[in-house]
Amino acid sequence: MRNDPRSHGLWEASAPEAPATSTLDRPIHADVVVVGGGFTGFSTALHLAERGIRVALLEAEEIGFGGAGRNVGLINGGMWVMPDDIPGVLGAVHGERALQLLGDAPTLVRALIDRHGIPCELERNGTLHLAVGEEGLAELRERHRQWRARGAPVELLTDEETARRVGSTAYAGSLFDPRAGTLQPLAYVRGLARAAIGAGASVFTRSPALATAREGTGWKVSTAGGSVSADWIAVATDAYSTGPWEIVRDEQVFLPYFNLATPPLPAELLRGILPGREGCWDTREILSSFRLDRAGRLVFGSVGALRNTGHTVHEAWARRSLRRIFPQLGRVAFEHAWFGRIGMTTDAVPRFHRFAEKVVGFSGYNGRGIAPGTAFGRTLAAHIAGDLAAEDLPLPVTEPRAQALRTVKAAYYEAGAQAAHLVGERF
Ligand SMILES: Cc1cc2nc3c(=O)[nH]c(=O)nc-3n(C[C@H](O)[C@H](O)[C@H](O)COP(=O)(O)OP(=O)(O)OC[C@H]3O[C@@H](n4cnc5c(N)ncnc54)[C@H](O)[C@@H]3O)c2cc1C
Repeated sequence: MRNDPRSHGLWEASAPEAPATSTLDRPIHADVVVVGGGFTGFSTALHLAERGIRVALLEAEEIGFGGAGRNVGLINGGMWVMPDDIPGVLGAVHGERALQLLGDAPTLVRALIDRHGIPCELERNGTLHLAVGEEGLAELRERHRQWRARGAPVELLTDEETARRVGSTAYAGSLFDPRAGTLQPLAYVRGLARAAIGAGASVFTRSPALATAREGTGWKVSTAGGSVSADWIAVATDAYSTGPWEIVRDEQVFLPYFNLATPPLPAELLRGILPGREGCWDTREILSSFRLDRAGRLVFGSVGALRNTGHTVHEAWARRSLRRIFPQLGRVAFEHAWFGRIGMTTDAVPRFHRFAEKVVGFSGYNGRGIAPGTAFGRTLAAHIAGDLAAEDLPLPVTEPRAQALRTVKAAYYEAGAQAAHLVGERF
């Protein structure tokens, strides 16, 4: 996209074609205008269109241009925040609803993929949260206890079992979540877009929403070449927001995250490395993640931006890390390198905003947007369709507020990750 191999990397190289779309070049009418073409926007559009509601979706660039086309592809249940802490952050009622919704969200993703036959390299074998040392294991024991108390089918695995599943002795144990899995994220969002179009949604790309105005009892959203008049606006622009809802972006601090993909590994290595194809990430503060794609490429990622000196530093660190974690790989080469921005909210939980009457949106997934974006999109559609009252939503309404010093904090994360990776894994 935009001829930038470092924006969507492997996913752009291996995803099926996007459905054909055009740029909005005239005034049109719809019941709902959805702004933003990621998981949240297309799930909203699909679930609205399936109800027979007329939807027009505006995407500033291309389908999946934001986080949806750049991420690791881990379909996670739950949030970063420990389950027992969520009611304290969101309040008892919303906390329990959000935990229920997000715990079930990976199942919704799998069901949508099955129902619409989306070719997106779905792997259903769960994820492994990997313990680094005793401290990491203690954190996972606590997560395990809290999730089990809520009836979640997670399992704490020993170091031996973890080594067998990962193909590495680097970890003290792991938390296995069978509800989770991996997918090819750009392929998934393109598939959601195709399904939404099939259900009757109109999708316009290279059509950034530039302005909104009241029109009778509804709204008019203008682009450079046209406009959509509609009763409702669903805002689904998250960390890549531009235009009228930049506040959604400004209430998040950007955490840069990169991924590097090896060429497909030879069959004898794939027999030992992630033979079950679970998606993995570790308990370090500057975390690492890895997974296989369908062709057997190892996709390895961590915090950092691949720009300026960052590319050389992070790539060299990734080679050293992989040598330690998977010595059997030998000398590692990378075929693809890309990065994006993860939007972090102050309390690490997502947001529901009512910007004005009938202008609503979910955002702020803190690096966990595949399943939550899909689930919140369905929720937004139910709310707009009148099937889910405001008081029954899984999140409270919050006033969007720009985070203080957000650019300084983002620069600190970027520089800090680079400094840590410059010296890391040398001994
Ligand atoms: C590197 C990286 C790794 C990640 N890893 C994972 C992971 O493994 N698992 C996971 O669950 N999540 C992960 N995430 C988070 C996840 O990708 C996001 O939470 C998710 O993409 C949010 O979905 P969304 O649809 O709300 O927003 P996005 O996918 O960001 O889509 C928003 C869209 O809105 C468009 N837009 C913005 N402004 C306008 C406008 N004015 N008019 C029209 N369109 C507009 C943008 O162009 C963009 O396409 C990761 C994110 C990154 C960046």
